[in-house]
Amino acid sequence: MTLPTAVTTAALVSRSVDYGEADRVLTLLTRDVGKVAALARGARRSRRRFGAALDLFVVGRAALRLGRDGRLATLERFDPTDDYGTSIARDVIKLAHGSYLLELARELWPADQREPELFALVVDGLATLASQRPSAGLLRAFELQVLRAVGLVPCLDRCVRCGAAAGNAALSFSVAEGGVVCSPCGPTGWSLSGAAQQALLALRDRPLMDAAGGAPAGVQRELRDLMLLVVQHHLGRRPRALDFLIELTEATAPGLPPAAAGATTPPVEREA
Ligand SMILES: [Zn+2]
Repeated sequence: MTLPTAVTTAALVSRSVDYGEADRVLTLLTRDVGKVAALARGARRSRRRFGAALDLFVVGRAALRLGRDGRLATLERFDPTDDYGTSIARDVIKLAHGSYLLELARELWPADQREPELFALVVDGLATLASQRPSAGLLRAFELQVLRAVGLVPCLDRCVRCGAAAGNAALSFSVAEGGVVCSPCGPTGWSLSGAAQQALLALRDRPLMDAAGGAPAGVQRELRDLMLLVVQHHLGRRPRALDFLIELTEATAPGLPPAAAGATTPPVEREA
C-alpha cells in the first residue's frame, strides 16, 4: 500500500495505551489507510486537543501524519462525528460486547491493507450495539461478517471435502479445513445440527441491525461454542475481551449460563 505523507480519514480508536507523561499510543482503524499505530501527543495531559474523540467507540475524522520506515504515525487532529461510546458505556454488558467487536476487527485486520468494507462493518456493529439491547445474535453475525470481509469465513453450504451441497442431514464441522463436512465424508468429531448450520447461513448474510433474537437457546449455545472455536483458530489465542465478558455475566447473573450474554467457557477442540 503506497500512502501519502498526510491524510484525513474516517477512523476510530480500537486500543489506547498511555505513553510517557503526557502521550498516548493508539491503534486506529481507518477507512482510507487501514490499521495505523499513531502517537497522540499531549492526549493524557489535556483533553482540549482531542476532546472525547480518543475514547473507545467514537467515530471521527482523523488528520494523520504517517510514519515512514516503521515509525509511528502522528495524530494531529481527531474530530468526533458519531459517538456510540456514551450509549455503550452506560451498560456494562454492552461495554464488554463492544470491546469484543473491536478486538476481533483489530486482530483480524490484515497488515498494511486498506479495508473500507471492514471499517464500515465495525462502524455498523458499534451503531447497532449502541441502539439495541446487547444480543448474542449480533456477536455471531459480526464474527461471521468480519471473517468474510478478511476472506476467512467458514464454508457453510458445501462439504469442504467433496463439495456436495450441505442439506439438512447430520453434518459435522472442521475448523482446520474451514467449514462443514457432510455425513459420508465425516464425522470430524464436532457435530453441527441442521438448525445451527441454517442459523449461521442466515447470520452471515443478515444486516447486523436484524441479527438479534431468532435461534432458540440451545442453538445459540451451539453457535457460540462453534464460533469461539473458529475465532480462536484464526487469532491463535483466546479473545481477551471474552474473559471480561464471562466475569461480568457471572457477576451480574450468578448461576445463569454465560450464554445469556453471548459469553462462553472455552470449548475443547475435539477434532482428530
Ligand atoms: Zn463430503
